[in-house]
Amino acid sequence: MKRRPRYSDFLLDLFFPTRCPACERVIGWNERFCAECEGKLEYAEPVPWQAIFHAKIGSDEPEFDRAEALFRYEGTARKAVLSLKYRGSRAVAEYTAERLPEKLFTDGLEPWDIDLVMPVPMNIFKRLRRGYNQAELFARELSRESGIRLETGYIAHRRKKVEQHKLSWRERLSSAKSTYCVRSKYAGKKPLAGKCVMLCDDIFTSGATVNNCARLIKELGAVKVIVAVICYTPPKKNDVQKNVQ
Ligand SMILES: [Zn+2]
Repeated sequence: MKRRPRYSDFLLDLFFPTRCPACERVIGWNERFCAECEGKLEYAEPVPWQAIFHAKIGSDEPEFDRAEALFRYEGTARKAVLSLKYRGSRAVAEYTAERLPEKLFTDGLEPWDIDLVMPVPMNIFKRLRRGYNQAELFARELSRESGIRLETGYIAHRRKKVEQHKLSWRERLSSAKSTYCVRSKYAGKKPLAGKCVMLCDDIFTSGATVNNCARLIKELGAVKVIVAVICYTPPKKNDVQKNVQ
């Protein structure tokens, strides 16, 4: 599917040809993937969300009320997400923002039930170094696509010495609890009272990150948190057991 024309994309393409985020082949300025990669994208299993997302959290009830992903973090989809994460290529974020609502807005959930879109925050030093937060790029696309307001100022990421992906599963779960916090000006307040928030991230691995952010969003008064991610890492056989132990 062609992307919606943006004048800025056309101009940019004159100097920096648009490339497929998965294989780097030059493509048309209004395309997102080359035809070959688009045909190979690894879509998420068509199963109820609990089968993937609740299973990954383990035995505890998730803090979020629902979660959906468009892809599995494998092969071509994985390359495209890495291209968003490390090169800021928006193609997979746009592609997901257009298709994920079809999965999200079912079973009685409607776009107008959601009050705001919020990305998982990135710590300020990493954000300055990288120049963007990939979760925010995705949230921005979802906001643009749905017309739901984007908010980035309620929760923050504390600076950590060790990056999440270098930790073991168990370390990751306990580390995530202290990684995020409510911004001090909202401490003890309920600025999100009665709201339904769509929380966005690029990859759902252990679920610790979105689960802890969802807990903070509810501390701020939100009644519902819907998680929207581009992809999830397919559970390995003993992941869920490790989590439960
Ligand atoms: Zn390609």
